[in-house]
Amino acid sequence: MIRYALACDKGHAFESWFQNSAAFDKQVKRGLLTCPLCNSPKVEKAMMSPQLSGTKKKSGDASGPEAPSPAAPAPVAMVTPQERELRKKLRELREHLVKNADYVGQKFPEEARKMHYGEIEHRSIYGEASTDQARELHEEGIEFHPLPALPDERN
Ligand SMILES: [Zn+2]
Repeated sequence: MIRYALACDKGHAFESWFQNSAAFDKQVKRGLLTCPLCNSPKVEKAMMSPQLSGTKKKSGDASGPEAPSPAAPAPVAMVTPQERELRKKLRELREHLVKNADYVGQKFPEEARKMHYGEIEHRSIYGEASTDQARELHEEGIEFHPLPALPDERN
């Protein structure tokens, strides 16, 4: 799994996990990746702050006390207040979706299709779809979005 810092065309910053960089590219190309705040499908990897400093590093500093210890490669993160806020919004969005939509489980593709073709009335639903089902829905022009997942729900 690989985590990308992402930003939409409106400047919302968020993060998401992907199997690999090819999976990221594929989701963007298919418009499956949307901003969790505004649903914009125009999502790009956020620019990393460039390491351009005028001052040269002192030689021999690489193994100094500031270098990260290679002994304990545990994934860690410093969370800024903005990220904490974003995480809260993600949770709110998810709760809002879940509260206002009907859970249809694995009937999601079927229900979404019926709505798309006008067989039943439009309403908010959520459920599960396999990668193949999601691709088929997408190819039929049926619009849907992945339910935002919070990192701590993956464990
Ligand atoms: Zn956005």
